[in-house]
Amino acid sequence: MSTAEQGSQAPVADAGGEPDHTAGTGQPAGGAASAPEDQSGPSHAGDAHDHGPARELVSLPDHLQRIVESIRPLSPIQLSLLDSSGCALATDVVAHEDIPPFDNSAMDGYAVVAESAEGWLPVTGEVAAGDEPRLSVEPDTAVRIMTGAALPAGATAVVPVEHVDEDGERIRLRQAPQPGAHIRRAGESVEAGETVLVAGTVLDAASIGMLAALGHSYASVFPHPRVVIVSTGEELSDPGAERSPGAIFDANGYVLTALARDTGAQTVRRMIASDDEAALRETIEELLPHADLLVTTGGVSAGKYDLVKVVLAELGDVQFHKVGMRPGMPQAFGFIEADPGRVIPCFGLPGNPVSAYVSFEVFVRPTIRRMQGRRDLSRPRISAALEAPIESVADKVEFVRVTLRRRDGEWQARPTGNQGSGILRSLVEADGLAEVPSDRDHLDIGERVVVHLLRSV
Ligand code: AMP
Ligand code: MG
Repeated sequence: MSTAEQGSQAPVADAGGEPDHTAGTGQPAGGAASAPEDQSGPSHAGDAHDHGPARELVSLPDHLQRIVESIRPLSPIQLSLLDSSGCALATDVVAHEDIPPFDNSAMDGYAVVAESAEGWLPVTGEVAAGDEPRLSVEPDTAVRIMTGAALPAGATAVVPVEHVDEDGERIRLRQAPQPGAHIRRAGESVEAGETVLVAGTVLDAASIGMLAALGHSYASVFPHPRVVIVSTGEELSDPGAERSPGAIFDANGYVLTALARDTGAQTVRRMIASDDEAALRETIEELLPHADLLVTTGGVSAGKYDLVKVVLAELGDVQFHKVGMRPGMPQAFGFIEADPGRVIPCFGLPGNPVSAYVSFEVFVRPTIRRMQGRRDLSRPRISAALEAPIESVADKVEFVRVTLRRRDGEWQARPTGNQGSGILRSLVEADGLAEVPSDRDHLDIGERVVVHLLRSV
């Protein structure tokens, strides 16, 4: 995302903010999850079609903030260095020794006393990388030295082999060396006592290299949550299986699993081809012990068979909200006791595939990031000018699938076509989600929007 510029407009769906690094088990911060705000009003039709009064809606920023504030990082674990790649450090790392640990040669050549090295100098010994630092060098002598070898006592410069004349066991310097030349000083990279990595750093090749250079074989990191994804709906068939008349293939299970994996989470996917209350409850209960986070899709709107609402509310402290966003209005969020004493967050996302996708980006990604002890909670954003006008719904933040291109040094965004909440096609084509603020119902060509990047552009 190196070419992306940060959007100038403050987006509504900004899940920024610093997690504290208190260890936790993902249970609600400061006790129970916040009180339901919007579960009593009359229900409306599915999330793509709802035009209910604004006062029934919870604002997206409020809902998001409440979720993010209720999530704590998982308890830190020790992982072997390579397995810790992509995890956030749970503690600061302070160097317990210098890097490099001793003065050493930066070149293959000769260690000399720079101030006294004229004429032919006898070579009195040789030191290779890894040799114990035993030798010393006297004035008007030289010690053959290899790159990385400890500097002999008394040496004040290294002369590269290319800069000397050699004659058996004697050498002559072609020019007087500068004191300190080609010496890597102990501590020149890192000094003992220095903080080299701060808690929250996401470990990558460079930071893992730093830990290794300091001699650590394990890192204390926040683990990736185990996410259980449950697709609900009588109409769902598993891709690869036969599709019976009236059925559709389960897209969301794959959408959400792929998104969760993209965050680094470990995923366990399980589809339910049933809108039966007892069966749904049984499946969820069976999966809970394996989960740090439960995500369901479907069954949270107002249909006769929308039983996820019922089951999640039975299982834990889960509230239902109509959130001022499109797509993705009907949302369930709360906490469920997964094992005795272990409470996990739980989302009931809407069933339309794009609603599920957008809901993941807006609410679930920041949640997973928090559980991972990360500071960067959301995808990167840019500011772009519209290449086509957008009509949007009032009182809701609208996420419009757009393609992006660069023109005259500026990002330009263009909607990808049919924006229905079930139309995956226009999501496949999209580079990002343009955010239309809730107080706007029309945006003109040339107006700037914040675009959440879904892929590198
Ligand atoms: P629901 O919220 O269960 O009423 O579902 C809303 C719409 O999304 C319906 O047309 C469902 O068939 C569809 N839908 C629900 N779950 C999935 C899924 N896992 N994959 C694809 N479409 C789905
Ligand atoms: Mg359904």
